[in-house]
Amino acid sequence: MSDPVARLDAFLAALAAAGISASRPARDECQAATFPWPARTLAIVRPATSAEAAHVVTIAGQTGQPLHPLSRGRNWGLGSRLPVVDAAILDLSRLDAILDIDMANGTAWIEPGVTFAQLQARLKAEGLRYHLPSFGGPIDASVLANALERGDGAGPMGDRHAGLFDLDIALSTGERIRTGHRRLGPGIAAELHGRPAGPLIEGLFSQSSLGVVLSGRVALNPTLDHAGALLVEIETEAAFDLALAVLRRLVESGVLNAYDVAIWNRAKRLSSLLRGRDALAPALQGAAGWGLSLIVAGDHRELFDARVAVIRRSFAGLASSIDTMEDRTDSGERLETFLTGFSHGGNLASLYAAKPGPIEEPLDPDRDGCGFLWLCPVLPFSGAALREVEALLAEAVGERPFFAALGAQAVSGRALHGYVSLAWDRADSMADDAALALYRQVAAALAARGYRAFRLGHPGLREAQAEASYDAVLRRLARALDPAGVMAPGRSVPAERDDA
Ligand SMILES: Cc1cc2nc3c(=O)[nH]c(=O)nc-3n(C[C@H](O)[C@H](O)[C@H](O)COP(=O)(O)OP(=O)(O)OC[C@H]3O[C@@H](n4cnc5c(N)ncnc54)[C@H](O)[C@@H]3O)c2cc1C
Repeated sequence: MSDPVARLDAFLAALAAAGISASRPARDECQAATFPWPARTLAIVRPATSAEAAHVVTIAGQTGQPLHPLSRGRNWGLGSRLPVVDAAILDLSRLDAILDIDMANGTAWIEPGVTFAQLQARLKAEGLRYHLPSFGGPIDASVLANALERGDGAGPMGDRHAGLFDLDIALSTGERIRTGHRRLGPGIAAELHGRPAGPLIEGLFSQSSLGVVLSGRVALNPTLDHAGALLVEIETEAAFDLALAVLRRLVESGVLNAYDVAIWNRAKRLSSLLRGRDALAPALQGAAGWGLSLIVAGDHRELFDARVAVIRRSFAGLASSIDTMEDRTDSGERLETFLTGFSHGGNLASLYAAKPGPIEEPLDPDRDGCGFLWLCPVLPFSGAALREVEALLAEAVGERPFFAALGAQAVSGRALHGYVSLAWDRADSMADDAALALYRQVAAALAARGYRAFRLGHPGLREAQAEASYDAVLRRLARALDPAGVMAPGRSVPAERDDA
């Protein structure tokens, strides 16, 4: 059925016949993002059970209706709640069951609507022997969606997709597949181990939405007796380059795990602490330099102290200050901090970096007209590379009213996940177009240096094209999984191109 109106009518009629309610979106519901984007939300379906959700996916396949799944829809800076092209939204937020918590082995089997705050609260109630790797995003985002998006968390289990297994996936063909040992029947292996014999296909469902993931098991971080963070401030370029070389060696030698390491330029740090342009602008005057945030944890006090001492000694002479923060009060009571999985969501302030006050609680960047875009380049683990990106941003922005910031998360001893953010005020009617042009300019400058993306928001998806043969094979795989081509069109499968 090629007529979109008839297609949508057929989809809604089939849903109604199956007893599944759907609504046409209200004017401001799922229609705004933190950047201008033309795609429209045509309908919203909020299934109550995973069986119902799977049925919606089947009906989309049968009627040819494009469908964009959302777990929580907190994808600010990458697409918010908008589909890439016109589509119905499958909102999975009601599927919020924690299906199983295994506190003996440190895993949780969860549905897509389970949030960071919810899972961490449950782990706390269970005694916090294991915790959720914390992150900088909204605490009401979905743990499962973040893992599917290959998000980053803090601590040894910070590579969230690496710790995700046993997915239950609904396909538009009406099939439902399990990727872990559960596909072979019940047994303990599914709870302990994510890689049954045979090819691994989980990757095809990450950053793709080629199927709708209805549950998955996530690995948790062991909570060790001692945890602390070292905040290392560095002022000069020469010291920063040397400090990054030292840091890299600390990761390679196992003193720090890669995911224990976060790096910030001053703009990133201040915009996460201070809310709004009026508070930020004076603090930024003359602010330069970099900060390192390093997590240290250990079950043995001697080992913990030795690690802290090695790190402090390593940066002596390079850092302008090194502060150590521990997560216990003087009387030994443990505080709830990011070190043991309590994400705070405070970084959302950075979306307001270009907005004048007053700023209302609760924060809602779509409602508040925050212009915000992420670029996510892979960077070499080097001070020179980070400085190069910072300089490139300063040159691209110039004197214009955009706010650019740079952070990075170590993912190995070789590579960093770069987090470049561009913020502007969408109330300024001229700024949106200029912001998209700036985004493209920065993306091109990063790519020209070989700093390719590990994650793309809607505007970047359009331009992402690989070698023709890779794209052709990806399209064939997508057709096998989703012959009707209804699953999140435009997300993972590049459009046909002339030379293909
Ligand atoms: C200030 C700030 C700081 C941030 N810091 C971090 C950070 O430290 N680490 C990090 O990783 N991220 C970070 N983020 C990114 C952000 O928090 C995540 O992208 C967030 O998890 C996405 O929102 P969500 O979980 O509600 O997913 P959704 O918006 O629901 O979905 C995200 C994407 O996944 C797809 N999808 C969702 N659910 C499914 C499903 N069940 N099946 C198939 N496809 C699905 C959707 O179609 C969509 O494209 C940050 C964001 C902000 C604004």
